[in-house]
Amino acid sequence: MDYKKAIEYVVKRRADEIYSAQVLFERALEENSALYETEKELKKFTLAAAKGEKTDKAELSSLLKKKTALLKSMGLGEKILNPPPHCKNCSDKGILPSGAICGCVKSLAINDGENVTIPLRKFSDADMTLYGDTAARNAEVFSNVEKILKKFPNNKKRNIVLLGGTGTGKTFLAGCAAEFALSRGESVTAVTAFDFVQRALNYHTTFDDRKQSYIRPLLDSSLLIIDDLGTESVFKNITLEYLYTVLNERMYKNKLTLFTSNLSSDAILARYGERIYSRLFDKALSYVAALSGDDLRLKKR
Ligand SMILES: [Zn+2]
Repeated sequence: MDYKKAIEYVVKRRADEIYSAQVLFERALEENSALYETEKELKKFTLAAAKGEKTDKAELSSLLKKKTALLKSMGLGEKILNPPPHCKNCSDKGILPSGAICGCVKSLAINDGENVTIPLRKFSDADMTLYGDTAARNAEVFSNVEKILKKFPNNKKRNIVLLGGTGTGKTFLAGCAAEFALSRGESVTAVTAFDFVQRALNYHTTFDDRKQSYIRPLLDSSLLIIDDLGTESVFKNITLEYLYTVLNERMYKNKLTLFTSNLSSDAILARYGERIYSRLFDKALSYVAALSGDDLRLKKR
């Protein structure tokens, strides 16, 4: 879903909810004559106040109390005519007072099912016994990643780099991170490095309405996962350039990016160069860890 559609959805949902609330209240007035009379008295007060006439505050307050009690007796809340919005930040307008698009719109637009292409997993489903000798060390990596996600964005880490051989559970851990962030209402994009390059290529070569849809989720998600870095093709002017731009912009905007790779840190330096390497392996901003052990996929068979 693009942002425009997501804003329309948020605004329409709010209008529908207010309309439904109104219908519900009118029905309550028809059903309950005491409520109807109280509401009529209250209207007189509002009218008098609008005309600038003096009103009896004590009487008004007792009428309001009566109305609340009557609504309650019908199983209706005090806020029936003014249901709280889904998003406190934008009051379901989709746009913040600053004019920026609200995070609720971005979550809605990004989390439409098309931007998470790795399997979602749960931290609670991780079976450390499969690791054998390396269980304790790998359990620590899982726990550290979970801690970073829990604290984000009130912590320093902006990149998570998971290294390790084939079948050591890197994608599983990435899937846990995606599920965790989604369960907190964050926007998540999780793609393979191959998909990442496809999106960059599409963005680079498309000049219609769809252009932005390829790149915006990569830039705007609270959490971006790029799985299996090193398996993608290196296209001139595309792969390294887009990787650098996305990484850089996300760090600048305080977003969290998780990479998994079979490559060693030396091989990453050789393949992607100093600019990308120095950001991925930034001591203060990146958490780098290796999962180790035999290929779990072979073990499970
Ligand atoms: Zn909002």
